[in-house]
Amino acid sequence: MLLIACPNCGNRPETEFRCGGQAHIARPEQPGAIDDQNWSEYLFVRKNPRGVHAERWNHAHGCGRWFNALRDTVSDRFIETYPMGAKARSAEVEAGSAQERAIEELPKSDIQSEARA
Ligand SMILES: [Zn+2]
Repeated sequence: MLLIACPNCGNRPETEFRCGGQAHIARPEQPGAIDDQNWSEYLFVRKNPRGVHAERWNHAHGCGRWFNALRDTVSDRFIETYPMGAKARSAEVEAGSAQERAIEELPKSDIQSEARA
């Protein structure tokens, strides 16, 4: 059985938890100032990465508190859990975000190399 480390209760079986989706989604500071497209993206568009993902979890059949977790979506391995409002300590997040940045920057570097040629 998969054990999930609740920051308040320690390791508990996965059947006590409920996933609340992607973590660290900030509400727009002025919702009335953004257009419908950006508002709908805030409400409905979520990442679905293959690899490390920051998620919100609720210890529904325990302390009842919400917390954040870094989970590898490929192996279903929990890398780290941490309280709401805290930042992840894990270096794998940095590696993941650096990897994403590298992928996003690929087309730009290709364009620059073509411009130089
Ligand atoms: Zn708990």
